[in-house]
Amino acid sequence: MDGHWRRTRFAPAPTGLLHLGHVASALTVWGVARAVGAEVLLRIEDHDRQRCRPGYEAALLEDLEWLGLDPDLGTADQFRRGPSPYRQSDNDQRYAGAVARLLAAGCRVYSCDCSRRDLAADGGEVPDRETPYPGRCRDRGLEPGPGRGLRLLLGPGCETFTDLWRGARTQQPAAQCGDLLLRDRLGNWTYQFAVVVDDLEHQVDLVVRGEDLLESTGRQLRLARLLGCPTPPTFCHHPLIRKPDGAKLSKASGDASVGALRKAGIPPAEVLGRALHRLGWLGAPTPLDLESSLDLVLRNLDKSRFGP
Ligand SMILES: [Zn+2]
Repeated sequence: MDGHWRRTRFAPAPTGLLHLGHVASALTVWGVARAVGAEVLLRIEDHDRQRCRPGYEAALLEDLEWLGLDPDLGTADQFRRGPSPYRQSDNDQRYAGAVARLLAAGCRVYSCDCSRRDLAADGGEVPDRETPYPGRCRDRGLEPGPGRGLRLLLGPGCETFTDLWRGARTQQPAAQCGDLLLRDRLGNWTYQFAVVVDDLEHQVDLVVRGEDLLESTGRQLRLARLLGCPTPPTFCHHPLIRKPDGAKLSKASGDASVGALRKAGIPPAEVLGRALHRLGWLGAPTPLDLESSLDLVLRNLDKSRFGP
């Protein structure tokens, strides 16, 4: 299994405290990295300036250190020293440069001033289903400026890929999301845009992340190609911890943070065991050290897909 991929990443957004869902995701990233002999990069995804807080970044660095999950690149010390190539808010020029590359390659990028309300009025809100952007501003010729975002025409056609966990997939990016939002009306680079630009910049060739992001893979592959990348990363979408009603864990719904468990005197091994138990990979929420936890992740991978 060694040698095929060189680098993966764990990329939390500092919009809240890490909880067991993040722990499960981090264990999967580090477990897969160990299985294939890849480095782990830690990236701070603070592209949404309204929702991110420096205090949450400090907390997540502390939580990962406490759990023993040390990245090869983007270490806690590097982030604490100041600006970093692995913190999105420090790299505005990188994203602006990527827009310039899209334009230079002949892609169509245009300004859009649609609010959520405008879009709901156009397309109707369909709960739990993505509504593609209807192209309202495509031919309006708006100048860039305050209160205006940026969108990219993705072009027609399918993207086909083999997910290491979920198998062969075909997606139609433009039909799913319409013209991709690169920057929102508040001036924030979007998640979809920033992660693709960063994964290329950081030479990430294996993306391990939660299955809730599976449906956005096609548009990320398309964007990578439009940015001139002939070999986009391989993807691996892992299962998430679900509550009995099927919802993901979240701080907003009162799920305990790693920090709260730590302050309650619960040791790291017990937090790891609880995360793996909630994933359904460990029969009981018993303590499990980091080495054994990573081994357990490996036993749950479909190893045949990780071959050279
Ligand atoms: Zn618009």
